Amino acid sequence: MLKNITNVTVIGIGNLGKQIAEWSALHGYNVKMYDINSADLKKFFIAVSQKLKSREGTGEIQQFDSISEAVKGTDLVIEAVPEKLDLKKQVFKIIDEHAPSHAIIATNSSSIPVSRIENSVKRKEKLLNIHFYKLPDFPMADIARGTKTSEDTFDIGKKWLESIEITPLVLKKECLGFVFNRVWRAIKKECLKIWDGGYADIEDVDKAWKIFTNMKIGPFQFMDIIGLDVVLDIEMMYYKESGDPNDEPPQILKDKVNRGELGVKTGKGFYNYDVQ
Ligand code: NAD
Repeated sequence: MLKNITNVTVIGIGNLGKQIAEWSALHGYNVKMYDINSADLKKFFIAVSQKLKSREGTGEIQQFDSISEAVKGTDLVIEAVPEKLDLKKQVFKIIDEHAPSHAIIATNSSSIPVSRIENSVKRKEKLLNIHFYKLPDFPMADIARGTKTSEDTFDIGKKWLESIEITPLVLKKECLGFVFNRVWRAIKKECLKIWDGGYADIEDVDKAWKIFTNMKIGPFQFMDIIGLDVVLDIEMMYYKESGDPNDEPPQILKDKVNRGELGVKTGKGFYNYDVQ
């Protein structure tokens, strides 16, 4: 545990927010949570509270009915609401108005640099991007500064990540995709091109990847887990940003998404799955 951080608030307890909240509590931090969907928040709160009871050395977990209550007495806030700039600005503004002045505010955004949010808050020196990957499988996070982030804030953010056994991947200059998503994106884009061009079967690409990296799944299986709608949205975002026709995702991916073949969650994507 870090000396200057005891209480961590997570705003937005969806896919990623759940993982961040649970992981932080398991590593001894007191976690305060808020989500606009109170029924889902309650369900998650009950499940994690039970899990924490059966372990030693964990922190406490609490749920709140508003952002203003959830950030009272906090030291670090992680925002994990949907990927919409206006929403994030709105949420940051409320956090800034109610959190103690020493508290650091970080966004878990996959594509919005915190520099695009910073105008909505006063404490511009206390902002970070802390972009987590799926936990517990990938214990790493990109960490990036806004235009006015202090070295002290950056240092605390990095040390906090290390204290919860997450490897910080330091982004030295702002770029789309941050550190690892940019690498993953290059792999994903080439895999989609191999599939679109009919150059090889997806099974062979996945086999090659597994042999080469010693990983349990290949890129096509991983895309099915992420959701092909999410993959398409992300590829479209890169394409819109660059305007390079070479970045446009293939039509066959768009067709798949239009047919509702979204991967594991719908039972069919690149592969077929049993849907519970
Ligand atoms: P999600 O849709 O699963 O979760 C978002 C949560 O925010 C939902 O529970 C929703 O009820 C809640 N919410 C919506 N409006 C809110 C508000 N005004 N106040 C409080 N809560 C609100 O989304 P996600 O996949 O967890 O993504 C959240 C953020 O994490 C995004 O910025 C995304 O880019 C980033 N991220 C996602 C992934 C991923 O693999 N899904 C990975 C890394 C980072």
